Amino acid sequence: MIRQSRPFFDERQIPDDLCPIATRPNPMLPGDWRNLRPVVDRAKCVKCAVCWLYCPVQCVVEKPAWFDIDLAACKGCGICAHECPHHAIRMVEEGG
Ligand code: SF4
Ligand code: SF4
Repeated sequence: MIRQSRPFFDERQIPDDLCPIATRPNPMLPGDWRNLRPVVDRAKCVKCAVCWLYCPVQCVVEKPAWFDIDLAACKGCGICAHECPHHAIRMVEEGG
């Protein structure tokens, strides 16, 4: 799993008069704060790619026989589970 540990840009290049909220990048990824995560039932998945199409952050990844989730990038919104026509995705609580 690749995690972002440094800002994408050199902070020294940022003008002093910008809002600090915009100039101090947070290295956290959605997987660090998400409270629900999608779990794909491989037996039910027919690889139709509807979850891939609807995921707003494009963290659904293709596997040889099913689609799975990049949990570092997934924010746990549940859209994939709602849209899956085969009910192959369920949302479970983190830490549960
Ligand atoms: S929408 Fe459901 S059935 Fe289709 S690829 Fe995603 S998990 Fe599999
Ligand atoms: S829960 Fe949301 S962010 Fe995560 S894979 Fe599903 S649609 Fe994408």
